[in-house]
Amino acid sequence: MEKIRFHRHFQRSSFHNPMMGGQLDTQELEIRRDPLTGRQSVFNPGLEDKAAFFFGASDRALMERLARESEPQCFLCEDRWKRTTPTYPEKIVPGGRVVVGESVLFPNLFPVSRIHAVIRVGAGHHLPLEDFSPALVREAFLATREFVEHLCRSEEAVPFLTLNGNHLGPAGASIVHPHFQVLGSDVPFTHLEELLALGAAYREKHGTSYWVDLAEKERELGLRFIACTGAVDWIAAFSPQGTNEVLGIFPGKKHFSEMERQDLCDLARGLSAVLRGYASLGISTFNFTLYSGPPDAGDDSFRCFLRVISRQNFYENYRTDDYFLQKLLRNELILTTPENLASSLRKYFQPEKELGS
Ligand SMILES: [Zn+2]
Repeated sequence: MEKIRFHRHFQRSSFHNPMMGGQLDTQELEIRRDPLTGRQSVFNPGLEDKAAFFFGASDRALMERLARESEPQCFLCEDRWKRTTPTYPEKIVPGGRVVVGESVLFPNLFPVSRIHAVIRVGAGHHLPLEDFSPALVREAFLATREFVEHLCRSEEAVPFLTLNGNHLGPAGASIVHPHFQVLGSDVPFTHLEELLALGAAYREKHGTSYWVDLAEKERELGLRFIACTGAVDWIAAFSPQGTNEVLGIFPGKKHFSEMERQDLCDLARGLSAVLRGYASLGISTFNFTLYSGPPDAGDDSFRCFLRVISRQNFYENYRTDDYFLQKLLRNELILTTPENLASSLRKYFQPEKELGS
C-alpha cells in the first residue's frame, strides 16, 4: 500500500466567455489534497499569470515612508527595549530577557497564550525580505533555544511550543520592526493538535513517521524538493495551506529541546534562502510557524517542521488574501504551482548565493 498519496482531482467549469467573443469556454481545475490532513487547494491554470492581479506590486516607497514615520516611536529600536519591554521573573529567565547579539527575547505585554514571548530580530527597524540574512535569523533562533532551555528547567515548562512570525501589516504584524514570537501552552494549538493526532494515526497504520516519509518521498520524486540545509529538508508543499507554502522538515527532531545550535543554524540558512527567493518574486510579507511535538511523547510519530507562506503584498488599500475560500471553506488557491515554486527557489539555496548576500 502506498503510504503517501498525492491526490489530484480534476473538474471542468464551462460558460460563454465575452473575452472570447461569447464562445463556450471550458476551464480545467485541479484540486489537490494534502497527503496528511486531506485539506484541499485548487489550481486554475488560467490564473497562473494573474498573481500580479491578486497580490499587486509591493510599494517600496510606501513601506520606506511608513518605516521612517514609525521609527522614532518604535520600542524595539536602539536601546529603548531596555526601558519599555517587560521582563520574566528571575527564576524563569535569569536577567529577565534573553539577549543573543542583536536579538532580544522578552514577554508579550498582552499574551494570547500562557507562554508568549516576543523576539526582536535585529536592530534595524525596517527589513525587506532579502535582508533577513542567515546570521540575523540565526540569532533570533538561538535566543529562542536559550529561552526554551530556561523554560524547560523552570516551573513554567509547557508541553506545546511553537515559534512564529508575522512580517508587516498584511501578514498581521502590528509593528514594522521585524520580530518573531514564541507561543507555548499546556493544551496544543488547534492545528498542532490536528497534526499530532493525524501523525499518530499515520504511525499506527504504517509504523513510520509521516514527516520522515514525506521528506524521503519528495526527495525521491524531486519535483517539489528544493534543497537540504544540514538537518533540514526543504519542500514546496503539494497542497499548500497558504500562498507559496514551503516546508522545512527535521527528519531527526521531535521537540525544540532536542535541537542543537547547528540545527538552528541549518534552519536559519534555509528560512533566509526562502525569504530571499520570495523577495525575488516581488513578495514583501510572510508568516511562518515552527511546530514542535510534546517533549515526552510515548510514540515516535511527530517531527519538528517549519511552514512558511507569503501573504498579501504591501501597498495602499491592498485587498486581503484570505477570503471565504480560505477562512470559511478552508480551501486554498494556488497561483504558482508548488513545482514551479520549488524550481524558482532552488537557486537561493546554492552556497555561492548565501555567501553573496
Ligand atoms: Zn524599530
